[in-house]
This record gives sequence, C-alpha cells and structure tokens, in this order.
Amino acid sequence: MALDHSTSIIIVGAGTWGCSTALHLARRGYKNVKVLDPYPVPSPISAGNDVNKIASELSIITARSSSFADDSDDEVHVARKLLEASMEGWLYDPVFKSHYHETGFIAAASSPANITKLQQQAQEDKKSDFKYLSTPEDFRKTMPEGVLTGDFPGWWGWQKKTGAGWVHARNALISAAAEAKRLGVTFITGSPQAHVTSFVYEQGDIKGAKTADGKDHRADRTILCAGASAIELLDFKDQLRPTAWTLAHIKMTPEEAALYKYLPVLFNVERGFFMEPDSDNHELKMCDEHPGYCNWVNNSADGQRKSLPFPKSQIPVEAEQRCRGFLRETMPQLADRPFSFARICWCADTPNRSFLIDRHPEYPSLVLGVGGSGHGFSCIPAIGKFIVEAMEGTLDPKMAESYRWRPETAVNRDWNDTQGRSGGTNEVMDFQKVTQWTAIGSESRL
Ligand code: FAD
Repeated sequence: MALDHSTSIIIVGAGTWGCSTALHLARRGYKNVKVLDPYPVPSPISAGNDVNKIASELSIITARSSSFADDSDDEVHVARKLLEASMEGWLYDPVFKSHYHETGFIAAASSPANITKLQQQAQEDKKSDFKYLSTPEDFRKTMPEGVLTGDFPGWWGWQKKTGAGWVHARNALISAAAEAKRLGVTFITGSPQAHVTSFVYEQGDIKGAKTADGKDHRADRTILCAGASAIELLDFKDQLRPTAWTLAHIKMTPEEAALYKYLPVLFNVERGFFMEPDSDNHELKMCDEHPGYCNWVNNSADGQRKSLPFPKSQIPVEAEQRCRGFLRETMPQLADRPFSFARICWCADTPNRSFLIDRHPEYPSLVLGVGGSGHGFSCIPAIGKFIVEAMEGTLDPKMAESYRWRPETAVNRDWNDTQGRSGGTNEVMDFQKVTQWTAIGSESRL
C-alpha cells in the first residue's frame, strides 16, 4: 500500500529513537501514528533516560576511527550528514535547543596505544582548536580550582572548547514526546496494554503489533524502535548484540554543584567520563569505561545463546570499584562518597557499530530503527527523520547503504569483539559471572 498522510503507523518503543521518529512523522504530516511502550516516557529502561549524554561534532573523528564501519569517504559522508542534522537540531530546534550545553570536551587516554590513537585523531581534524594536555597540571587547569585535584597518572589528552558538550538526555526525550503528542501522535503506555509481545503476521508481511493484553494493534506500517529489547521481537540474524554499560551518581552539596557548573565533559577512553551535576538533583553522574557486559543465556525457543537485556538499578561491585578508581585519579575528594543511584543501561551493538535503519527484506511493511551501538543519543533531534526517510524510500543512498539490513556481516560473529572499546580488563564481560552487586537504596526508581 502506498504511503499518504492517513497511513496508519505503529512505533514499537517510546525511547530515544521511537520518540524522535514520532516527532518527525508528525512534522511531516502523518496523522495516524501510535506509539506503544510498556512504560510512560521516559521509560526507566530506555538508554536515553539519563541525566546527560555526550554530544559533539567530534563524532566525525569517531566515525573515522577503526572501531566504526570503516574510514572510507562514504562513511565520512554518512557521519557528517548525521552530525550536521543532529547539531542543527541541538542549536536551533525549539524542542531540543535548551537541552544542549556547549561546555567543551576533554578526551584523554592512559595507555600508549590509546594515546597514539588520540594523537592521530587530533592531527586528522585540522580545523579544530585542540589544546594538548600532557601534564597533571594541564588537566587540573581545565576546571575551576578544587574540582580536579587528582594526579592524572600517565594521562595524555586534548581539550576542545567549542562544538562539543553534553545534553540533558531525559529532558530532551520528554520534550520530543511532548511535541509529538501536541502534533497529534497517540502514545499508549503501560503494561500489559502497551507491552508488545509479537507482531501481527499476515500474508507474508507484518501488519501491526500484538500486546500482552492480547490485543492486535493493526497498522499499515510498523516501525521497530525497541532498543536492546528489539531482539526479543525479531530474528536479527545476529546483527544486534545487546550490551550494557554501568553508571553511578554522587550527590553533591549546593556549593559543589555551583562550583561544578559549566564544566567541560571529561572522557578518558579507558577509565570513564563525567559531566557537570544535573541542576534538579545536584547529582554528578559518571560511567566507568569498558567494552560492556552481555547477559548470555540459552534461548529455550531456538536453542541459541543470546544476550538478553534485563533492568537493574544496581551495578556490579567491580564497576563501582572502577568508578572509584577513576575518581581517585581525577577527583580523589569524591572517591569514597556513597553513590546515590546506579543502574545498568542497555544498548544494541551492530558488528561495525553503524546503525540499522532499513525496511525489512522479508516483511515489506516493517521498518527497523535499531542498533544505536553506544552513540545513538546525540542524534535524537534528527534520527527520526532518517528512519522516516527509510520508510518512505528516500534515505540518502550512502546512508541507506551504511545502515542497511546486512546479516552477511554477522555470520560467525565474534561475540567477544570489544568493537574498539577499552577499559577494565579490556574484555566484554558476562553478567552471568557477576556475583556481587551494589546495594544502593534506589530500586524505587525502576
Ligand atoms: P532506548 O532509548 O533504550 O528505547 C527503547 C524503548 O523500547 C524503551 O522506551 C523501552 O521501554 C521500549 N521497549 C522495550 N521493550 C518493548 C516492548 N516489548 N514493547 C514496546 N516497547 C518496548 N549515546 C550518545 O550519543 N552519547 C552518549 O554519551 C551516550 N552514552 C551512553 C551511556 C550509556 C551508559 C549507554 C547504555 C548508552 C549511551 N549512549 C550514548 C547510547 C544511547 O543512549 C543509545 O544508543 C540510544 O539511547 C538508543 O536509543 P533506542 O531508542 O534505540 O533505545
């Protein structure tokens, strides 16, 4: 069936990409759009439900680094197009612009191999205003006195003052959903009524979604944006690997929060990263850096080993220790302060970390918007536009090629591939082997 503005469309998942897609569909004039999610926005299991995320024009450099698709001109074109559309949204779109904070960005590494990589990246980007940081004093001086008091053992890095910073992720997500609703999109949330359990299969196609209350939500097009949980609804032929990272919060005093305001993002690719505390709760969020955790279980339905996401508002004790190690090197004054919150956060990695945005080859009415691969938040202002273009068949041909359904790239996939990430033991870890978890009194947030 040809598309027109009355085409009925269901989006499965009201997370980062689902809300962006809802917004762009509504802005293009689609009048019959429904979003289903077991949780109200912001879903506690959405990777985007977070006080902050990094957003930066440095993604172009990142896209050229070896961990991504490849460094061909086509991939640079794709990264540039995504980045330009996203930055335009952060700078000018009223839905997003108040959530972007251009505070600058510090990238650092500790091992010789990663330091060499950072040096190469800085040399490749001739236009940027990099300031090199090679002594502990250089690092300490990037922030007001009393913030970075650590010894920065063996650190090397650079600072970039413009074109980079952080975004208030949760508020940007809420804002996208609110505008989509205002423009007429229907959000059905809660479980069982909006928990999608499977699709409506009909005549070799998909014609909507089935929810846990037994209801069929029929639609002309179905767009799957369920993040890491998407593998529970469709056989992705090993193209998605649900992988989790770990984050923790530290409560700051109002005085500390004032001192820490407007800080640049500090990101050591082996140790972790933090941004300024959020202005609502004065909590400083940090992530310890590592190649991620999978949750390997044998799927009884098909006998295959799968990494299955699960929610948890705690982190492994080893992750807490890594966070505290990061603090000891940077802000030892905070290293022993209790955490006020922690959680694991799931994303879906494709084999080359390029997104998966395409119409399904076997089910013509199913559109896929998945595979955020750890860098899918900063494009929330624009990603929905590209997902809608994939549905309409008008996506830029180089983007369509990069983001296509590509099971041949996942044959005999190396599930332990670190995919260019470092930190911890430099291995992908398995939650099944974790024996000790933190006991932070915040389960109520889930
Ligand atoms: P999500 O935002 O997770 O949304 C999935 C949605 O699907 C959720 O709302 C969920 O409730 C819903 N859902 C699940 N199951 C069902 C079902 N059965 N039926 C209906 N709905 C369902 N990216 C950046 O750009 N910058 C960063 O600094 C950054 N930092 C990150 C830090 C961490 C710790 C993590 C984990 C990720 C980070 N990312 C970052 C990546 C980014 O957050 C993700 O790529 C992006 O949020 C993925 O969006 P999504 O819409 O695919 O998934």
